[in-house]
Amino acid sequence: MHAPTITGGPALTQSKTPGEIVAGPISQEWAARKSKAVSAAVGTTMPVYTAAAGGGVVVDVDGNSFIDLGSGIAVTSIGNSAPAVVDAVTRQVEAFTHTCFMITPYSGYVEVAELLNRITPGDFEKRSALFNSGAEGIENAVKIARAYTGRQAVVAFDHAYHGRTNLTMALTAKNQPYKSGFGPFAPEVYRAPLSYPFRDGGLSGPDAARRAIDHIEKQVGVENLAAILIEPIQGEGGFIVPAEGFLPTLVDWARENGVVFIADEVQTGFARTGALFASEHEGIEPDLIVTAKGIAGGLPLAAVTGRAEIMDSPQPGGLGGTYGGNPIACAAALASFRTIEDEGLVARAASLGERIVERLRGIQSTDSRIGEVRGRGAMVALELVKAGTTEPDAALAKAIASYAHRNGVILLTCGTYGNIIRLLPPLVIDEALLDEGLSILADGLAKN
Ligand SMILES: *Cc1c(COP(=O)(O)O)cnc(C)c1O
Repeated sequence: MHAPTITGGPALTQSKTPGEIVAGPISQEWAARKSKAVSAAVGTTMPVYTAAAGGGVVVDVDGNSFIDLGSGIAVTSIGNSAPAVVDAVTRQVEAFTHTCFMITPYSGYVEVAELLNRITPGDFEKRSALFNSGAEGIENAVKIARAYTGRQAVVAFDHAYHGRTNLTMALTAKNQPYKSGFGPFAPEVYRAPLSYPFRDGGLSGPDAARRAIDHIEKQVGVENLAAILIEPIQGEGGFIVPAEGFLPTLVDWARENGVVFIADEVQTGFARTGALFASEHEGIEPDLIVTAKGIAGGLPLAAVTGRAEIMDSPQPGGLGGTYGGNPIACAAALASFRTIEDEGLVARAASLGERIVERLRGIQSTDSRIGEVRGRGAMVALELVKAGTTEPDAALAKAIASYAHRNGVILLTCGTYGNIIRLLPPLVIDEALLDEGLSILADGLAKN
């Protein structure tokens, strides 16, 4: 397995300014250059600059090693620089780097489309189209749904995250930092209440779905509604797993009313949740499914896949883009999927998840600041609250993440209230390494 060696030891120190973390001298130099060269609006979670990464380890330019519990936000699920991806990309780079699929097409694009049509949920005739980023995939799914239905309105949910372009900002729920000052936003976007078991007072999945449907029928009207768009498990919004029955009830209602059901599986897709797609956990078959992040081992690629009659409905030439389905990214995607199959990473995601949840539930039994441990497969979160209440504790999440960073673990937070610690380890991570990372998380909880 490709993995840089671990040099270990506390990686970073805390400066005299509270909360500020100080990296090694070479990273500090780069940070100084960044502040003069890169827009200040582009933030970084950690102050270290990457030199190499693989097998669940990231090594910085000063030689510090970090246990990777983030996978670059659920992208490098098969590990960084996975051998099959390196090989496929190298061969493709040597053959050709770009022709534009809309000018002289190439086989890799078609093969990725065939693959997606085969592996996504639903045993019906499908088509795919390829793009560059999750946000671009979502935008195109909405375009397709509007073309197919002849309707304009789109419903997204509370706590949703769908990207940073104009339409996807409108679809995203959270104001700071994603939307503030960037309006006006695209019209005909409506928001419905989610099923959020920890904060729902025990509302059942079907009841939460009926609450959302009632809201949609009264405030939007099905005759105007092109699509409902939802993450089967919310990512940035806080790893919220809706109560059982919520998603199937929405799908049934959408189907009865000629509304296109779009699953945003950008974060949940490709083995992450212990299934190839999170939709499978509840047996739903989305009309359209949007994928990106984990699709190509770190190369930028996104896709919209779905029912042939919907996908074929926009006018010829209506979909596309200069780089969409770039040949190098397609080669990486095919190699990445082979790696998932060859290394049994769907099952590995499930077993890693069980290991993480068991450890975290153990900690939770003696720490009432852990309101909930939740997730599916290797997509697990801790919701942190003021002890024994449901009041979000964002300061604690921040302190624990900062402790982890100083002690050599890449740990991410998320959530509308900023109080969620989320774990997204590469699915090829060594169990001992994972355990070490979780121990540092446990120490962070004990010391804050
Ligand atoms: C990351 C993400 C997006 C946006 O993807 P980009 O590639 O950053 O544009 C959309 N939806 C979900 C669920 C995501 O996690």
